[in-house]
Amino acid sequence: MSRAEIWTFGDLRTAQQWRASQKVLVKALTVAKEADAAVSMILIGAPEGTPAASPLNDPGACVGLKEAAAQAAAIGAQTVYCLTHPLLAAPRADLYARVLADFVQQRKPWLIFLPLNDFGRETAAIGAQRCQAGLIADCVAPLIENGRFVGRCPAWGGQILADIVLADGWPTAFVTVPPHGVQIPVNPSAVGRIETIALSRIALPEGLSLVQRGLESEEGKRLEEAETVVVGGAGLGDMQGFGLVRELAGALGGEVGATRPPVMNHWVDEERLIGQTGKTVRPRLLVSAGTSGAVQYTAGIMESETIVAIDRDPAAPIFQIADIGIVADAKTLLPILNQRAQQSALRRLADATCALTPSETEEAPKAGFGAIVRQLREARNWSQADLAHATGQTPEFIAHVEEDKLSPPVSFILGMAQAMKIDPGTFLRKEERAVLRDRRAQAYYQRTQAYSYVTLTPEAANSHLRAFMITIEAQRDHKPVAYKHEGEEFIYVLEGDLGLTLDAKEHTLKPGESIHFNSDVPHKLKSLSTQPTRCLVVLYTV
Ligand SMILES: Cc1cc2nc3c(=O)[nH]c(=O)nc-3n(C[C@H](O)[C@H](O)[C@H](O)COP(=O)(O)OP(=O)(O)OC[C@H]3O[C@@H](n4cnc5c(N)ncnc54)[C@H](O)[C@@H]3O)c2cc1C
Repeated sequence: MSRAEIWTFGDLRTAQQWRASQKVLVKALTVAKEADAAVSMILIGAPEGTPAASPLNDPGACVGLKEAAAQAAAIGAQTVYCLTHPLLAAPRADLYARVLADFVQQRKPWLIFLPLNDFGRETAAIGAQRCQAGLIADCVAPLIENGRFVGRCPAWGGQILADIVLADGWPTAFVTVPPHGVQIPVNPSAVGRIETIALSRIALPEGLSLVQRGLESEEGKRLEEAETVVVGGAGLGDMQGFGLVRELAGALGGEVGATRPPVMNHWVDEERLIGQTGKTVRPRLLVSAGTSGAVQYTAGIMESETIVAIDRDPAAPIFQIADIGIVADAKTLLPILNQRAQQSALRRLADATCALTPSETEEAPKAGFGAIVRQLREARNWSQADLAHATGQTPEFIAHVEEDKLSPPVSFILGMAQAMKIDPGTFLRKEERAVLRDRRAQAYYQRTQAYSYVTLTPEAANSHLRAFMITIEAQRDHKPVAYKHEGEEFIYVLEGDLGLTLDAKEHTLKPGESIHFNSDVPHKLKSLSTQPTRCLVVLYTV
């Protein structure tokens, strides 16, 4: 009888996944040594030189088969099998699992190790089902005991380690293995055999197509480098509850992380997973809400400087490692924390604009302002168009603010506060509120001095709501330049035709017609009639 074989599946999607596969190969070599088994590496991909038909199957985006095969052979795989077909250029767990399963059925290896990640997990599950083999998931310690393979796997949220063996009559098992805890040998020099098997036919799984494929976003990378991370767990209950974590992260200028349940429930992208099978973070502040503190999760947060844990169960293990533990219902506490954090974020915005100086619009953009606006917007899952709508701006304006290309006036911050339902009185300083009030009074005074303004709300210099009657001479501009001031404006035309230039857009209003706009947008009035135009103007300022 030939020697039993242990195979390792090589994940070539990225250099990082390939490194993880090499580590799993090292683990397979250790097991094989004890069991006197042979080790092979299985690589799947397109034959060299396959032209990319689309970005979805661009083989250039993966680690090359040839290069990987040579490395695996040097590390110690006795045989490296390269299974190739042009349709295998884009890695797909469903497709690769079929190819792997077919090969397993032909060659009947003993064990097939796959790196423990979502791709490996899916490939193993489909592969095991297709060839009716065993499946040992999340095997943290692959062992040989009395000549039998034993997969030691965490169970019950990591509270126990279960030893799983193959039942009699089940000669083959797929095993997902975490890559941690071993080193890839430096300058390995083993001489393995490389065998390329060009597959003649591939049957694409029916009903499924690859829609998108791409590298991890910059946001995902930012998580590992973030100074502040807010992690949500199963205790948040649902997508909406998890939104509270996003809001807090946005307001604190931090990144969102998650334990496994929110990822499995698709409340958040997989790239946000923290822990043994996810990312390791090293922030100065980590807030962990509704997370019990399973070892597989805490493995990814232990290097945080300060851990604040919120859990309603005082016995939750997370409190054993937290610097500050808060026993509370996260859904009650997080909105309060969010409110405070958003107030302080808006305060930072106010500091960044220095908008209470007279020449608001000519200010040089303040670095960091755009990032705060973007974080606050993303925390609420708003698009730039949503924020533009909520603040009465254009999406281009928001884009420019976020790119720090322009420095917005204080009215923009007030608009944001209004959209976020935060009272400016809670984040503006007393003297700033006084300056705002004075400016309002000054503007009021200037307006009422102009012959064309008649105030309808005398003694209202400091009020939020003020009304004026405006008369514009026939066929004349109201003012030579466009107005721009914080707040909102309502115009109701009483007599004559009114021409309103709002930003660059022209509007014509007939008697009886009205308009409402953000008065921070430059606006200019003129009479379009042969008689004076009379309008009722109501200003609202915070
Ligand atoms: C091999 C292996 C690898 C794994 N890798 C990872 C990994 O990388 N990352 C990871 O996260 N997990 C991983 N897991 C899963 C891990 O074991 C745990 O199951 C997971 O971390 C639990 O997530 P959780 O704390 O969010 O959920 P739970 O353990 O269910 O905890 C939820 C907590 O929320 C609290 N709670 C409930 N409602 C509220 C409320 N309203 N307010 C406040 N608190 C509330 C509860 O008291 C509880 O403490 C792995 C498991 C295995 C076997």
